[in-house]
Amino acid sequence: MKLKDKVVVVTGAAQGIGEAIARRCAADGATVVVWDLSAEAAKAKAAELSETYNVTASGWAVNVADSAAVSAAAAEVVAAFGRIDGLVNNAGIVADAQLKKMSEEQWDRVISINLKGVYNCTRAFVDTFLAQGSGSIVNISSVVGVYGNFGQTNYAAAKAGVLGMTKTWAKELGRKGVRSNAICPGFIATPILASMPDNVLKTMESEVPLGRMGEPAEIAAVAAFLLSADASYVNGAVLEVTGGLTI
Ligand code: NAD
Repeated sequence: MKLKDKVVVVTGAAQGIGEAIARRCAADGATVVVWDLSAEAAKAKAAELSETYNVTASGWAVNVADSAAVSAAAAEVVAAFGRIDGLVNNAGIVADAQLKKMSEEQWDRVISINLKGVYNCTRAFVDTFLAQGSGSIVNISSVVGVYGNFGQTNYAAAKAGVLGMTKTWAKELGRKGVRSNAICPGFIATPILASMPDNVLKTMESEVPLGRMGEPAEIAAVAAFLLSADASYVNGAVLEVTGGLTI
């Protein structure tokens, strides 16, 4: 129960990696706040976690790209629970195309969610983190943000930007007791990969030294570590969780 009584907000937590992180936080005793686009999905997930793990969990419809909605929701979280101990900036999308075909709309959409969304959410909670003098921010970036990827100009730019913000916050907020770290997952089996052709997925898998895709729970375990006191001296780190893909 390493997160007992901690209040953790996870964005994009109705499915995939965010769901696994919210689940792991609940299993570790945290009060979990599920943010996602659909109120119904977020509330249903929170209800399931609350029942399964006997913790407080609540679900809210929050579009991380909407700064006004994020500010309002953050204020409600602080009013409801009195604090925030962990923020997991997980919500993200893809809208792939090679550069010569990438539209401005595709660029803007990915940047507004994957990059500005991370700024919006952290900006909305930073005063509370600083007033408390404690907290852990976990940003879900990607190996694509470090190494680039064919067809992902927008996604790579956003995920690299997330690493820049992570390190900046580690410097700005570290002295005040607030840690910021990033996880760069490799290939993780979630619906986000649904648009990829089977043969591409098989080739990707064959390039992983562990010989398989990762499971969302394997990212969640690392997020839970970063949120916990076990990571008390981990700040500004970028953890690649890839099965060895990048070596
Ligand atoms: P997913 O598509 O399965 O889940 C993403 C969740 O985010 C969904 O529940 C979706 O509704 C929510 N979401 C989307 N836009 C949102 C918005 N504007 N506001 C709030 N919620 C929103 O994706 P996933 O694979 O679980 O990815 C989660 C994170 O991990 C993303 O940031 C993604 O870029 C990153 N990532 C995934 C992989 C992978 O292989 N799956 C690899 C590297 C990084």
